[in-house]
Amino acid sequence: MTRGLVLGLLIAAGALSMAGAAAQAPAAGLSPAAVAATKIEKVRDNLYIITGSGTANRDAFSGGNTAVFITDAGVVIVDTKLAGWGQVILDRVRSVTSKPITTIINTHTHGDHTGSNAFFGTSVETIVQENTKATMARMDAFKGDNAKFLPTKTYKDKLSIGAGKDQIDLYYFGRGHTDGDTFVVFPALRVMHMGDLFPWKDAPFLDRNNGGSGVEIPETLDKALKGIKNVDTVIGGHQPVQQWKDLQEYQRFNTDLLAAVEAAKKAGKSVDDAAASINLTTKYAGYEAARTKAAIQAIYDEIDKK
Ligand SMILES: [Zn+2]
Repeated sequence: MTRGLVLGLLIAAGALSMAGAAAQAPAAGLSPAAVAATKIEKVRDNLYIITGSGTANRDAFSGGNTAVFITDAGVVIVDTKLAGWGQVILDRVRSVTSKPITTIINTHTHGDHTGSNAFFGTSVETIVQENTKATMARMDAFKGDNAKFLPTKTYKDKLSIGAGKDQIDLYYFGRGHTDGDTFVVFPALRVMHMGDLFPWKDAPFLDRNNGGSGVEIPETLDKALKGIKNVDTVIGGHQPVQQWKDLQEYQRFNTDLLAAVEAAKKAGKSVDDAAASINLTTKYAGYEAARTKAAIQAIYDEIDKK
């Protein structure tokens, strides 16, 4: 092989890999594995999710599941992943519609669900439960000049936007993962996005710094199960799409977890002893126990009012 040919092949290979990189990594600094994991997948009709939410492989992680709802008036997105992912979200949306993004709904305050809000600018209406606006205002990402990216619309218990097939119902049923978690229901499609109130099949992450409560989460989930009708498909924060019966099971899991933790505490067990003795993975098939100890600690602290 001549030197020129080798050089030519190298240049061609380089150009190919650069083209591949340009197609896969629109923004600098993003992990290629994470960009590859953000796929847009149809949930039903005019509703999609952008994936990449799994927390097991941090290198492929871009933040919580983003829902993309295409209405006559424009595109509504639910959650915006980590900071730096706005262009990828927009690229994925552009692969299914040319309509403008008009509305952002954030299920809750965390940076892996609100991180790219600012990318979409101040002309987009952003809606959250009122407690979440208060916790977002305490985040560095929304301080100073960036306060202009704080949500523009809030609600307390229930809010409906749009009409007919484009209607979206937002519900707040109380404390759980934080003190401002929204259930986002697309009634015409019988689908709901509930963020990190159902993040995975494991013990919940109870963010007590942002008002989360392991004592109240079973009741909050129960209120949602009773108060929300005609949903069969559930989008959670960091897992594949689930069914209503999975949410019913997660509510029972949380009820059993709380009862077991309260019993362990009453028996005088330390957090370590409680974690060693509480195992719900036999009763709940497919559940993991990676987050049990942290949840037990949070519930102990909550009971002790720490
Ligand atoms: Zn969260």
